[in-house]
Amino acid sequence: MVFLFAFSTHQQIYSRLWHEPLDVVIYPINGDGTLETQNYIAALSNSSFAEIDKWIAREANRHGLAQAQPLRTVLGKSVKSVPPLLPEQSNILNIVWWGLKLRYWALRNTPDNESNLRRVRVFVTYHAGEETLPHSVGLQKGLIGVVHAFSLPEQSAQNNIVIAHEILHTVGATDKYGMSGTPVFPHGYANPDRQPLYPQRHAEIMAGRIPTSTYSSFMARSLRSTRINETTAREIAWIK
Ligand SMILES: [Zn+2]
Repeated sequence: MVFLFAFSTHQQIYSRLWHEPLDVVIYPINGDGTLETQNYIAALSNSSFAEIDKWIAREANRHGLAQAQPLRTVLGKSVKSVPPLLPEQSNILNIVWWGLKLRYWALRNTPDNESNLRRVRVFVTYHAGEETLPHSVGLQKGLIGVVHAFSLPEQSAQNNIVIAHEILHTVGATDKYGMSGTPVFPHGYANPDRQPLYPQRHAEIMAGRIPTSTYSSFMARSLRSTRINETTAREIAWIK
C-alpha cells in the first residue's frame, strides 16, 4: 500500500509537467454484453478520440502553454472484466476501499510498470440502453479514469466530453457544478466575465453544461462548444 501511494505521488508530479505529451490509453469494455455494444467497440479506432487531442491542443494554445500537444490519446485493447462500481452510498471509508479495489483491478487488467508514470488509463464501459449510467470517475492516484458511456454513434461526441473531463480529473482538475448539476458561478463558467453574462456560448469542461441563466443550463453537444477556463488551467498546472 505504501509503495502504491509513493508510486502515485511520482505519477502526480510527472503527469503535470507538460514538457512532453501525456499518453492516454482508452480501454473499451462491453458493459451490457449486447451485440450492439460489441459492434460499436469493434468500430472504434484512434480517430474516434482524435477530437480530444485536437481540442486540448486548442485550449492549451489559448492559455499560452508551450507544449503544443498536451495529450496523445490512443485506443487500447478491449478489457473483458468490468471495473468495480463506485458505492452508491459513499463515505470516506468505502470510497478509499473502492479506490484500492479499482487500482488493484486496473493493475490486473492492464499491468503497469515504471515506464508508465506518465500514462493515463481510461476504462470506458459502454452501454447500449437508455438507462441512467453510473457516475464516471477520474482518480489522480494511479492516473485512472472510469467512464460510463453510450455505445450509440450519435453519443460519441458527448462521450468524448466525459472522457476529456475524467482525464482532466486525473491531472488535478476539480468538478465545477453544484448539487443539481448547474455550473457554479464563476468557476464553472467558460467565460465568467462575458457581458452580458447570459447566455454563455461555451461550457466549462469541468461543469459540462452551458449556462443560459443563473438556474438553467444545457449539456454541451461536443468538445467544440467546451472550454478550459482559467481556474481549471491553474489546477492542471498550465498557468501559475
Ligand atoms: Zn467530475
